[in-house]
Amino acid sequence: MDTITKEQRSRNMAAIHSVNTIPEIYLRKLLFSKGYRYSINFKKLPGHPDIYLRKYNTAVFIHGCFWHRHEGCKYSSTPKSKVEYWNKKFEMNINRDRVVKEELKNANVKCLVIWECSIKKMRKNPEFCSEILSVITEFFKSQNLYMEL
Ligand SMILES: [Zn+2]
Repeated sequence: MDTITKEQRSRNMAAIHSVNTIPEIYLRKLLFSKGYRYSINFKKLPGHPDIYLRKYNTAVFIHGCFWHRHEGCKYSSTPKSKVEYWNKKFEMNINRDRVVKEELKNANVKCLVIWECSIKKMRKNPEFCSEILSVITEFFKSQNLYMEL
């Protein structure tokens, strides 16, 4: 820990807990334009979902591929220095995500995780975007409790 300055640490924490990021705003606007209504940064549920759709009892999380360790994703690289520090941090994030997922499941709240790289692709590719939108719509209406895109 002592190899990381205070400033770096607070910047890291800000990156993990940041709200109103570009991918979040993009997805919110998209859902809103399709007629979905929701709460944002919903503090009454575990993990404070980025988006919560009461009507569909669904919590939506937009996961940064780097911080949340998207497996096999090109944005999920591991820094070459301070390896121990990063691994510890990543492990904490992964564990927290696991706990949140479990808590939502126990509370019978549907959970949708959308990786940042999917959002990136949606923004670039309108066809992919409408494909993802229909998958999301299906999920909202389904009995499934968990989906990752
Ligand atoms: Zn990714």
